Amino acid sequence: MGERWIYAFGAGRTEGEGQGKEVLGGKGAGLAEMSALDIPVPPGFTITTEACRFYHEHDGELPPGLREEFDSQLSALEEATGKRLGDPDRPLLVSVRSGGAVSMPGMMDTVLNIGLNEKLVAARAANGWDPRFAWDCYRRLLSMYGDVVLDVPHADFEGALAAVRDEEEVDTDAEISAAGLERLCSRYQQLIAERGAAFPQDVREQLWGAVMAVFNSWDNRRAREYRRLHKISDTAGTAVNVQTMVFGNAGDDCATGVAFTRSPADGAPAIFGEFLVNAQGEDVVAGIRTPQPIVSRNGREGLEEVFPQAFETLRKVCETLEAERHDMQDVEFTIDGGRIFMLQTRTGKRTGPAAVRIAVDMVDEGLISEREAVSRVEPEQLSQLLAPVFDPEEVESARQEGRVLARGLAAGPGAAAGRIALTAERAEQMAQDGPVLLVREETSPEDIVGMHVSVGILTSRGGMTSHAAVVARGMGKPCIVGAGALRVDETEGTVRVEERVFHEGDELSIDGTRGEVLAGALTSRSSEVLAALEGGAEASQASPAAHSFVRLLEWADQFRRLRVRANADTPADARMARLLGAQGVGLCRTEHMFFDDERIGQVRRMILARDEAERTAALEALLPVQQADFEAILEALAGLPVTIRLLDPPLHEFLPREPEAVEAVARLMGIDAQQVRDAVEELAESNPMLGHRGCRLGLTFPAIYRMQVEAIVRATHACHARGVDARPEIMVPLVGSEEEMVRLRQMIREVIEGVEAESDESPHITIGTMIEVPRAALVADRIASAADFFSFGTNDLTQMTYGFSRDDVGRFLPSYLEQGILQADPFAQLDQQGVGQLVEMACRRGRSSRPDLKLGICGEHGGDPSSVEFFHRIGLDYVSCSPYRVPVARLAAARAALEEAERGGDGR
Ligand code: PEP
Ligand code: MG
Repeated sequence: MGERWIYAFGAGRTEGEGQGKEVLGGKGAGLAEMSALDIPVPPGFTITTEACRFYHEHDGELPPGLREEFDSQLSALEEATGKRLGDPDRPLLVSVRSGGAVSMPGMMDTVLNIGLNEKLVAARAANGWDPRFAWDCYRRLLSMYGDVVLDVPHADFEGALAAVRDEEEVDTDAEISAAGLERLCSRYQQLIAERGAAFPQDVREQLWGAVMAVFNSWDNRRAREYRRLHKISDTAGTAVNVQTMVFGNAGDDCATGVAFTRSPADGAPAIFGEFLVNAQGEDVVAGIRTPQPIVSRNGREGLEEVFPQAFETLRKVCETLEAERHDMQDVEFTIDGGRIFMLQTRTGKRTGPAAVRIAVDMVDEGLISEREAVSRVEPEQLSQLLAPVFDPEEVESARQEGRVLARGLAAGPGAAAGRIALTAERAEQMAQDGPVLLVREETSPEDIVGMHVSVGILTSRGGMTSHAAVVARGMGKPCIVGAGALRVDETEGTVRVEERVFHEGDELSIDGTRGEVLAGALTSRSSEVLAALEGGAEASQASPAAHSFVRLLEWADQFRRLRVRANADTPADARMARLLGAQGVGLCRTEHMFFDDERIGQVRRMILARDEAERTAALEALLPVQQADFEAILEALAGLPVTIRLLDPPLHEFLPREPEAVEAVARLMGIDAQQVRDAVEELAESNPMLGHRGCRLGLTFPAIYRMQVEAIVRATHACHARGVDARPEIMVPLVGSEEEMVRLRQMIREVIEGVEAESDESPHITIGTMIEVPRAALVADRIASAADFFSFGTNDLTQMTYGFSRDDVGRFLPSYLEQGILQADPFAQLDQQGVGQLVEMACRRGRSSRPDLKLGICGEHGGDPSSVEFFHRIGLDYVSCSPYRVPVARLAAARAALEEAERGGDGR
């Protein structure tokens, strides 16, 4: 048997069941599955992605046998429907739609109403069909075919349409008369001719032209751009679905709509969606008219009231599909003469809060396992649940000041404020100087990059399933659509709301959770989840979002092996970290405590000291304040380990520059300002990042580290005396050789023992080092002999391995990313190939000389999901990241463990 390129669905002919979306594309597979479940789908057939692949791999040559198979499928479809393509009495009309294995919303092409031509429309209009309907179908075919197949700009058709509306003095397309539509069809044909093309009157030629256009659309610019952004393979290809038309626009007993089986905004378990009476498919998705809700809302009638029977079928279909597919579905439907037909089902895109709630609810409903729930939520989505919201009091006063400009549909939750940009290009330029809010009438696939760089998206038109809404949700951006009061004028560069005018660059705020647009930039604050967590167990229980968040992470904790700690420098950070599930502090940067107004003077005095006595005096003043800082952090993390790092940064970072600061230090030290300036000059370095910092300070100015260690030990004793289970670990930064570590360990032990000699306490305090200089990774076996633990400082390790300055990388990184020299920012996502090799080698070497060596990482990469997966794989004990990333790391660690188990091994 030769290769098969086409599979039929509907009308009792399910041929593609079990072929999967790799072969049939997502849309084709969904249709095959619905057809097999006896869900009403208009019959048709799917040309496989393999055929498209063959076509592109063979420079536009068709796979052998495809034409013949196509003809016989078409005949079978004609037979099943009792209609014939081009038959003036019973014409078969079909749609042609693309559909790859991975959904690419709005990226590829669709042509509806194929099978009409001038003669046929005139015949049907004169005899059988409502003439208005007949001409409307034809003008839609002409404009879609013109745009998709013949490359006539869409705007040309829009212009002609507006002209006819004006001639007839009507506001909407639905009010244009039959004669007006007939005239419009001739103008469309003329427009096509003016562009040097011709619309084929031969209906078979039409159909084939559309199929070829879909094949070709796989390779168009916006599809390629979308795939690049979403990391979809360029070779996968799209399937082509040829499907009998059903009409949502044939009268008031017709409609078209989209529905989600649960809310894609917050996951609430009820059908959610919208429909338009007397409209054709693309009208809903394109967001041109604001549709009615499926379930009545805000006084607007729902599908339930308008088409009760269709609603009942839809409800059952949603239930069947969820039971079958075990996930929330996004379906498209058409009601034709009161009967509902499903045109598509696919797994619905959702916000982070919805993803978490749906996963948890589905476990409760017995649809999926806890394990499945954990692997279904992307770690990054959790950060949306912690996303800031505006301060309600500020919003309230902004309301009273009349700053609420408009309301729209709350399409993507979260609060965003920024300067407005009216085009995607402007957004890209402006984003370099701070947060930008993209404000458009509606967005299109060309706007993708501009949407990406914006903090939020606001449109004046469209519904919850318009392009802007779907894409923003996928990107996790706050978004409001259909804010009808805004008049966006791109050419004039303004947004008008009644009398008020905003120019590009003016500030606006959007609350994507409530759908409110406000003038000016509001300040934001904790999300609902964060507020509930802070409010304690009862408050968390009361918020479905917080409750699901907590449960999902509890399941994740059961699956992960990697422990998750936080980087916290203050007691407030430490408390937040604990609230979000941190199992300790992996990095407390002591220098941050030195910048406090009260302390910086003594720190400067210590650095600029001319003799030991001066230095000792300054250190004596600092000791009690450091001790108090440590006590507070140790208390916040009672019972959990807290890694305290001794002083690390180059000293110049602390030195006075402003004349007043110089004067203040001079006064404190009893010397004149010039002497201070000279001392500052003397300490200047050419490459401070590679200079007098980290353990080099500890070895050359031991008094600083001695004071810090003493403060740590005294803080521990003080905590213990109060019954607080303090568990400090002391960490030395920037070690590059065994000798450095051996000497510092000895010094630290001496101080610990000295303080302990004064009391009868001797808590076990471990002493470890950061591995952040490449040399340290190379000689890790030697360093391990003097270290109880390693914590990888992947920020410095990346800096020194790549030789990219952490402070200057911004100058060339964007260009490197754009040119594809780098695939990702190595300071955000660990360079596994290079830096990762050093980390892995250091682990191996360290453990070879000390098998019980504890291994962690505290660079920024500790909160990045792909890096966490790597750290799991190479067998670290823990990752440490910023407090707000702790949930992301917990989930990423669980998913890494589950994926490893699936691959069947411990992966090391
Ligand atoms: C590191 O270098 O990765 C690190 C955690 O230390 P810092 O960022 O303070 O240099
Ligand atoms: Mg460092």
